[in-house]
Amino acid sequence: MTGETQGTATMLSAFDAGQAIWDALGPIGAVPVSLSVALGRVLAEDIVALEDVPSFDNAAMDGYAVRSEDVASVPAALAVLGEIPAGAAPGPALQPKSTARIMTGGAIPAGCDAVVQQEWTEIVAPGTVRILRSVAARHNVRNAGSDIVRGSTVLHFGTVLRPQEIGILASLGRSVLDVSRKPAAYVLATGNELSEGDAPLAPGMIRNSNGPMLSALLEAEGCTVRGLGVARDDRNGLTAKIREGLEADILVTSGGVSVGAYDLVGEVLRVLGVEIRFWKVNIRPGMPVLFGTKGRTAVFGLPGNPVSAMVTFLKFVRPAVRRLQGCRAAEEGVRLTAMLEHEIVKLDGKRHFVRGILREEKGVPLVRSTGPQLSNVLSSLSLANCLIVLPEEGRSFPAGARVEVELL
Ligand code: AMP
Ligand code: MG
Repeated sequence: MTGETQGTATMLSAFDAGQAIWDALGPIGAVPVSLSVALGRVLAEDIVALEDVPSFDNAAMDGYAVRSEDVASVPAALAVLGEIPAGAAPGPALQPKSTARIMTGGAIPAGCDAVVQQEWTEIVAPGTVRILRSVAARHNVRNAGSDIVRGSTVLHFGTVLRPQEIGILASLGRSVLDVSRKPAAYVLATGNELSEGDAPLAPGMIRNSNGPMLSALLEAEGCTVRGLGVARDDRNGLTAKIREGLEADILVTSGGVSVGAYDLVGEVLRVLGVEIRFWKVNIRPGMPVLFGTKGRTAVFGLPGNPVSAMVTFLKFVRPAVRRLQGCRAAEEGVRLTAMLEHEIVKLDGKRHFVRGILREEKGVPLVRSTGPQLSNVLSSLSLANCLIVLPEEGRSFPAGARVEVELL
């Protein structure tokens, strides 16, 4: 294990925490769905093509189906013996010195080995076309299987289905397919100070922003989400709500995992039989994050500050949801390298995720921080379009330094 030493203990690195999550969890099982509702779901089978796509040789352009040897010397006059629209069954074989008008997608007749596009032809008399240019064999012919070959594995278990994958499945005639069951996710906000609804705030109270935000994050990752509302910082209230939450595939709590007098989430989880896999990771923001499991339920205790809650969600909960859905790698969003527009100094050996604004100037990706990085300032996360990742080892990152960024 790598990480920063705090007292006698070595704190877990973000990398090792990710590995621990990957190792502790696995796919939760599949359900058949129809293609019309499969967008965004994760494939739970390998898709093997049972047919070639396209299934027959066809024309890539509107023009004339020819035998390339007949047009080796041009101009060449050919008798037009018919017309082949898209969707028609293949017509009779092409005889020497003859042709058929053919439309894009039309089936190439036997004997024909090329299509001369319309622009390279002229009609000289009714029933006779003059071909103005020679073409090689297979010119403008789309071969059977040139997109997908029968027997090949086109899509793999664990693929997130985007519109293009929906199109591929349709092209193979797959109207029903197995996808991962949607993980059932429960969200619980904890804290005596949390007020719900839109009534005026009592003195000392704040609104529960984490609950709706975490629900939205889980929903965006394909979960079926249930909000458990707010639990107060007392053992009884927490125990009842968390016990209910442990029926889910994934329970996400916010608040109550630090070292304050009212931070009881870890203790209650333990009493309820949750095996704590880690508690505290060498990152900022979000250091107190907790991960545990009970049976097949994954439990995340996220810190209460909204920015910490979102960053730890993105770093740990999102990969976990992907793992539960059978994704092959819990890959994070797009990562790239950008040039810092100003110096950032970091005073500890943690891995920092700095809210950043990425832009491009003259082909160079530039990034700057949104400003002060207090972890309660959620509006700065809304200004940000990326997280700047500052590795554990570094302390000073000067203007012009190349840094890794993760798009939000
Ligand atoms: P905690 O992690 O419980 O110590 O909370 C850290 C900070 O986050 C405190 O200022 C809390 O008031 C705040 N906080 C906790 N839960 C929420 C929440 N659900 N929505 C917004 N802020 C919260
Ligand atoms: Mg609290």
